[in-house]
Amino acid sequence: MCHSSKDSYYTLDKIPQHRIEYITKRVKDFIKDFELKYWPLDCVKLILKIQEEQCLPIHIKSIPNLSHKTDAATVYSREFGNFLIIVNRNKIHYPFEMSKHRRLNFTLAHEIAHIYLKHYELPDKYKTENDLYIEELEADEFAGRILMPESKISTCNFTSLENVAEHFNVSEWAVLKRLSNLKCSHLRFSKTFLVCENCENVEINPNDSYCKICGMFLKNGTRGVTTMKYDDGFKINENTMKVSVCPKCGNSAIGEFDEYCPICGQYLFNECTNDCGGCHTTAPGNARYCPKCGNITTFYNSNLLPNWEPTREALLNKMEFEENLSGTSNTAEDIKDWDTMGFALFLEGYTLLSTLLENSTAKQCGETLVVYVKDTSIKDRILNCKNVGILTSMAKSQFKITVNDIKITALQDFYPVAPEPVPIDDGDIPF
Ligand SMILES: [Zn+2]
Ligand SMILES: [Zn+2]
Ligand SMILES: [Zn+2]
Ligand SMILES: [Zn+2]
Repeated sequence: MCHSSKDSYYTLDKIPQHRIEYITKRVKDFIKDFELKYWPLDCVKLILKIQEEQCLPIHIKSIPNLSHKTDAATVYSREFGNFLIIVNRNKIHYPFEMSKHRRLNFTLAHEIAHIYLKHYELPDKYKTENDLYIEELEADEFAGRILMPESKISTCNFTSLENVAEHFNVSEWAVLKRLSNLKCSHLRFSKTFLVCENCENVEINPNDSYCKICGMFLKNGTRGVTTMKYDDGFKINENTMKVSVCPKCGNSAIGEFDEYCPICGQYLFNECTNDCGGCHTTAPGNARYCPKCGNITTFYNSNLLPNWEPTREALLNKMEFEENLSGTSNTAEDIKDWDTMGFALFLEGYTLLSTLLENSTAKQCGETLVVYVKDTSIKDRILNCKNVGILTSMAKSQFKITVNDIKITALQDFYPVAPEPVPIDDGDIPF
């Protein structure tokens, strides 16, 4: 997606390839170890949490008499195997208010990077000046990646450099450097678009008054920076303005003049429920709220669409799942023309599989082919087909891709599960 450009900030070509792969792996470990899901990160809070929970032997301290040139430094005690991050008290401004104050966030991420990339295992005296220089570049790259994940910054709405920097809790310099290493510097100048500041929804028409996903009144609230595509709704036929497949029972035998599903009686239009107000706006298939008046829609009212908050979390979980599958190769690409797979299966005589895959989508994540189906009942039926394995080999020949594994899944699988309350039995306490 990103074009290469000659750029003085670009430093990745100086880091050996195997080390870049190591950084990729360690960034993933870091995000997993600390269960990072929401950005921006605040490394001050993160390090205080590490210190409190003692999950890593890291301590932090600020002192007034560090050299003016140093923002922070890490002292490693080989004897005790622990780290002390020392911050220059004269240069701290916390909580961060300005771009230059947010430098500390990057500095701390950089110090964590040295620890996470195990730069302290070999004492400095055994390293050349160039080795040490590369370690600095590696730490910067690690810091950039944890503070500004590629999936988030590359889909950003660049309303201004200042806004983006503030959004990721870093300095403007850190954003520029991150974009350079991603070879995405041009993104800074891309056209801005409308984004809901509340739910990150990007599907907003210029004359919408309310966000159709979260219902927020949009006046002055459409300059969001990070984005999210709520692609979980139902497909609406552009000519009839209604669904062609019943969202409730899956019936696809719907007549031209049917307003209700002939099987289950479900209303087939996703409309504003504000009847008395006479709004009657027809909304897209993923709309929970009317973009004109903010009232709930018929599909949301019939519980066909879940609340946006758990959906957002499910979408984030799905992204994390894909990133984990991609391993260090970092490829998670939609398989275009996946629709043709159903036909190919049909021709080969796999009629059931062909039917079950209707309206599915697929992605190549590293060596794995991920197929997203409508819901878990379809998923279970596919997994019960004894010839499900044929999908991998057919996908290989059909789309000329290298995959060794297949995963069938539905967005439903990614919804956060509320922890079950542990029943307390008074007579059974083990202490
Ligand atoms: Zn350093
Ligand atoms: Zn919204
Ligand atoms: Zn129905
Ligand atoms: Zn309305």
